[in-house]
Amino acid sequence: MNFCPHCGSAEISKLIPAGDNRPRLVCGACTTIHYRNPKIVAGCLPVWEDKVLLCRRAIEPCYGLWNVPSGYLENGEGVEAGAIREVWEEAAAKVELTYLISLYNLEKINQIYLQFVGELVEGKFAVGEESLECQLFTEADIPWDEMAFTSSTFTIKRHFLDRRDGTQRLHRASYPTL
Ligand SMILES: [Zn+2]
Repeated sequence: MNFCPHCGSAEISKLIPAGDNRPRLVCGACTTIHYRNPKIVAGCLPVWEDKVLLCRRAIEPCYGLWNVPSGYLENGEGVEAGAIREVWEEAAAKVELTYLISLYNLEKINQIYLQFVGELVEGKFAVGEESLECQLFTEADIPWDEMAFTSSTFTIKRHFLDRRDGTQRLHRASYPTL
């Protein structure tokens, strides 16, 4: 941060404000403390019969690799709505959320993934604008070596485990758990 987003001043310093316990970016002109906090990534694994829908990314990072539809939550948006929106943007598909399956922490890059399992409505999908292609995979066909993110691998594996166990539960982990 070179300029204060609040007043435009260049007098930004890193210091521990009174009553706080860690360094923050503070504007010397208007005294605004600019807190920086983790971002939420919301996503949903669409399920149809014994298959899951994955998308091959048309955007960086990890262009060309497969992913569970996911993306940054927008301001004013709930996690559920964000997950549904991401499936629409990446796979032009509608989902009915079934349960929250993953809480996946990436502390080193300040991201928290929250991913649902959802039923793919009528099994219909196309290719969203952020994808090169979208495809339904059985567990045996998942391209494990071409996955974009560990969070996706984590969620897909837990989904098939839950399915075998007949359970629907929240799985929690931190990077680099697969
Ligand atoms: Zn300022």
